[in-house]
Amino acid sequence: MSMPWQRTAEGANLLSTNGRLGVTIFEEITTLATRTGALNLGQGFPDEDGPQEIKDRVKAAVDGGANQYAPGRGIPELREAISSHQKRFYSLAVDPEQEVLVTTGATEAIAATILAFASAGDEVLTFEPFYDSYGAMIGLSGARHVTAPLNAPDFQVDLETLEAAFSSRTRLVLLNNPHNPSGAVFSLEALQKIVELATKYDALIVSDEVYEHLTFDAPHRPIATLPGAAERTITISSAGKTFSFTGWKVGWATGPATLIAAVRTVKQFLTYSSGTPFQAAIAWGLGQNDEFYQGIADSLRQKRDLLANGLREAGFTVHLPQGGYFINADVAPLSLASAQEADAALLARQLPELIGVAAIPVSVFCHPEAAQRNRSLLRFAFCKKTEVLEEAARRLGTLKDVL
Ligand code: PMP
Ligand code: GLN
Repeated sequence: MSMPWQRTAEGANLLSTNGRLGVTIFEEITTLATRTGALNLGQGFPDEDGPQEIKDRVKAAVDGGANQYAPGRGIPELREAISSHQKRFYSLAVDPEQEVLVTTGATEAIAATILAFASAGDEVLTFEPFYDSYGAMIGLSGARHVTAPLNAPDFQVDLETLEAAFSSRTRLVLLNNPHNPSGAVFSLEALQKIVELATKYDALIVSDEVYEHLTFDAPHRPIATLPGAAERTITISSAGKTFSFTGWKVGWATGPATLIAAVRTVKQFLTYSSGTPFQAAIAWGLGQNDEFYQGIADSLRQKRDLLANGLREAGFTVHLPQGGYFINADVAPLSLASAQEADAALLARQLPELIGVAAIPVSVFCHPEAAQRNRSLLRFAFCKKTEVLEEAARRLGTLKDVL
């Protein structure tokens, strides 16, 4: 007998917001989790705040008068700190005046970059699954969204497929490394191929690196460090993930002065500027010592392994991430009789009521064809307290009994 969550082809897209600007999947699942009191492993935000010292800096900045508009390009201290961060970790030289732009989260940097460079007649190439705002912003820009698939189990780039996805109309290639939702960290070979093809087709590279400090195997390697890349690359990051302050929405873009000037021009009319006291606190926070940065990845690795074990014991097939804070798990083995039918989008809607755990279906990060390929995958966030992950694992263990 087919279960309600195992049904439809259309079901795979019930929750999708891609290409249709409805309520985002994050909003929808978080609302559902709140209503049912479920453990929210859906939306990717930590359930513990970042360092108290950084919070104290916000209060000090407010008391010290940092309460009016920040300059459009960001306060000088933060631009300096971002420039020093790029030098310290990656030996990348960016001029704080012309080559750094502070934005309202990485989200605004992504939006302003796409709107600055892409319009009708252009193609923007992303990998698929893709982070939801990419699809929405490419749609708003009027450009065509072309994708190259990343497939389970390792979600690595297939170089031939990537090459076939480029064309003379490719204006931007937008990658996300480490990758959300899959947790893949792209190989050096894949990064080199992206640079080679972007150069051949004279496309710009936009690299969303918000999970740069959350890697489990090897240190992060920005694509801008590869030969020939820096001159055509805009790198985007955010304080949200690194410091566990997603609500502060302090992000940034770095790259060649002419490219950053174009992004800044659009950004002026999106928000102009935001979060003056938060900018001040993050300017200070970026100077944390090496132990701090190492500690973030170490503690997340333990959480990843805890949740991965729980999911395996519950009967899921687990695709272990190399970076970021999401695990993709396949629901198909939970119902061997109708494994072909397993539909994670329907299950995601029922999971909070069934066992009190919320997750996001990977199909919502896809256009219909790829949604079909990824329809049995659920994405679980593990940036949560250890006791929350332990309880989630326990509840997931009861899923087999209630299905
Ligand atoms: N890019 C990716 C890949 C993300 O996962 C997120 C959110 N977690 C963002 C961008 C948005 O970052 P911010 O909250 O700084 O706007
Ligand atoms: N980036 C977060 C995630 O992937 C969510 C951000 C949002 O809610 N827009 O879960």
